Amino acid sequence: MESTPTPTRTTPPATRKVVIAGGGYAGTTLAVRLAKALRPGDNIEIVLIEPNPCQQALSELDLVAVGPARAEFCELWLPTLFKNLPVTVCYNRLHDVRPDDHVLTVGPRSGPHEEVAYWRLVLATGAIAFIPPVPGLAEYAVTMWSVADAQELQRRIEAQFRIAAMLADREARRMALSFAVIGGGATGVEIIGTLGQMLPKRMLEAGLDPADLKIRLIEGRPDVLYDLPEQLREKARGRLARLGIELVTGSMVSSVESDRVNLANGDVIDASVLVFCGGAKPDPDAVTWGMQIDPTGRLIVGQTCKTSGYDDIYAIGDVAAFRDPKDNRTLPMLAQFAIREAEETADNLIREARGEQPTPFVPNMHGEFVSIGPSWGVGWAFKAHLSGLPAIMMKRMTYLMYWFSVGGIKLTWKRTREMLSMQR
Ligand SMILES: Cc1cc2nc3c(=O)[nH]c(=O)nc-3n(C[C@H](O)[C@H](O)[C@H](O)COP(=O)(O)OP(=O)(O)OC[C@H]3O[C@@H](n4cnc5c(N)ncnc54)[C@H](O)[C@@H]3O)c2cc1C
Repeated sequence: MESTPTPTRTTPPATRKVVIAGGGYAGTTLAVRLAKALRPGDNIEIVLIEPNPCQQALSELDLVAVGPARAEFCELWLPTLFKNLPVTVCYNRLHDVRPDDHVLTVGPRSGPHEEVAYWRLVLATGAIAFIPPVPGLAEYAVTMWSVADAQELQRRIEAQFRIAAMLADREARRMALSFAVIGGGATGVEIIGTLGQMLPKRMLEAGLDPADLKIRLIEGRPDVLYDLPEQLREKARGRLARLGIELVTGSMVSSVESDRVNLANGDVIDASVLVFCGGAKPDPDAVTWGMQIDPTGRLIVGQTCKTSGYDDIYAIGDVAAFRDPKDNRTLPMLAQFAIREAEETADNLIREARGEQPTPFVPNMHGEFVSIGPSWGVGWAFKAHLSGLPAIMMKRMTYLMYWFSVGGIKLTWKRTREMLSMQR
């Protein structure tokens, strides 16, 4: 007689803990997309480690630094975002990774640390402002890498308005109202553009004469916005000139004093308020985690965004060095790539949980837009060159798409209303 096979009880696999370190563009996108894609059988628990209660949308900082936006405009509150999603947010920092033990530690730089074992770890700790060792630069310039930086610039602008209001001597007033930005890349141009459009209005409101205002953009190379084609750079230069912004190009900064910038060619630029937008470097802690890094300190990742040699650790966004297979160049530090890498990684985590192979990330740049003032932009999309209102609308559209992907229709509508009120 044939024996009846004993029914086997399938024990559910142990919970797979996915830990995401960093809740910026990359980490937030990943956590939201993964949480929304989960099915009960996936058995995934999502933990997001981020020291700040809100994500800072860095690409909109200029609007907070000089107006017209309030700080909240570029902050996404994580407690609101994750209220109805299966994501546990740990408001702390990733302290260390022990990749061979599949364990990380969480906690302050000095103090007690908690160990967390992970099934998959995603490193998305971003980058910080890079300040070269130019005498006086770190002391006198404000960088533009956080809402706190934007508020510091706001504070310095207001302080100079107060000083200028009390000065009877015109030359002294002009000195007090001299503003300069170092760095002619997209970040520097966006800040200077917003200064150029907004400061005259704010001066009129404060009873000051906009004719006393001096705004200069300092760039060591011969031109600004090198990532854009020459035709668009020309339009950008025209816009900057119309805003009364002077371009100082072709000489590096040799030192900075409290109210001036000294250039290597001997020129001296007045700057009572100075902003430094000269570059970024990856999260400096990344070099301590025992994974391979490239010469700039970014974590080397393969085509599926997994770190070199560790099958259970992904790295995405600014902290990761992903080489585009089309030209073998490392992707630039841009939100659009951070978001795309995060989307692909969320899908790959689901694939892995369901026993499938992760698929390669295929980067594509469909466009690039730079704002020069809150109501004017320049850039390209799908080979079409745009400037003025259409370009700024395209730039704002990318914000809307991001807000929609993480916050849904409610957040998108709220931000759209705020944006429309700024165009007036
Ligand atoms: C002023 C400015 C304007 C920009 N404009 C544009 C633009 O117009 N278009 C564009 O595509 N890109 C733009 N960028 C670049 C873009 O903002 C970055 O590429 C993007 O923020 C990268 O996303 P990320 O998630 O990798 O890093 P981030 O957004 O920087 O997020 C990193 C997160 O990691 C957290 N973190 C750091 N260390 C730890 C730790 N040890 N543990 C836990 N969490 C940690 C941080 O608190 C932060 O929240 C701009 C950048 C700046 C500064």
